[in-house]
Amino acid sequence: MPVFYDTHAHLDYPDYAPDFPDVLARAAAAGITKIIAIGTNLDSSRRAVALAEKHPAIYAAAGWHPSDALTAPADLRPALRELARHPKVVAIGEIGLDYYRLPSLTRPAATLSHPLGEGRGEGDDVAYKQKQAEIFRQQLEVAVETGLNCIIHQRASFDDTLAQLQPFAGQTRGVFHCFGESVERLNQILEIGWLVSYTGIVTFKNGQNIRDAVAATPLDQFMLETDCPYLAPVPYRGKRGEPAFVKEIAETVAAVKQCSLAELSAATCATAAKFFPKLA
Ligand SMILES: [Zn+2]
Repeated sequence: MPVFYDTHAHLDYPDYAPDFPDVLARAAAAGITKIIAIGTNLDSSRRAVALAEKHPAIYAAAGWHPSDALTAPADLRPALRELARHPKVVAIGEIGLDYYRLPSLTRPAATLSHPLGEGRGEGDDVAYKQKQAEIFRQQLEVAVETGLNCIIHQRASFDDTLAQLQPFAGQTRGVFHCFGESVERLNQILEIGWLVSYTGIVTFKNGQNIRDAVAATPLDQFMLETDCPYLAPVPYRGKRGEPAFVKEIAETVAAVKQCSLAELSAATCATAAKFFPKLA
């Protein structure tokens, strides 16, 4: 059976509390032999590490997600350095920038006294983006110091993300997870020697742009992931995702790459082992 890795799974989320052992058993039965549990803040990163300590197939990434930037401590680095030393912490992540839900766009519902809603202004957006940039930079610094690679999250912020990581590009490497951008942007990432990874979106009926990106990505420059519990592939679309579903993602990607599952297994596992040396 071809073996695959799930390089991005939110296994610490409460979604898995009811049936965690079954989730792991289904992953093993589907040939998913290694799973990276992703941290989204310090508590989440510590939960991911605890899972990795308990289960041989699970590894962890430690990081603070940009959407949670406003609750991050002023200096994340000491706690992150500590986590990065753990033998099963294979990367810093997920880190990056997310401009999808800016404060000015998430105003509360209109009321009688405030017919347009009590919206927050552009000043809040500036502060939010500054805090995101600050924790992104701190975490890139820890990646460089600790020799770990990064797992990059970006949404509606591609150009800023690329600009902010540029000073670090020769000192650490990153994977743009859940890649869903154009081939032109793909090439901007590959040019600096960084990687991308693909989720279940590649199986969606409206995912032709992702399949085009997969077709344009050399076989040794991408990895597979579920981003579960989000983005379950067809035929599970809309349901809770889980690591076993890498199998369905791999089948679609192999069809796009016109290669066998065995070839895709060998290529993606080798890429992951090289990118995350502690995954060995
Ligand atoms: Zn994620």
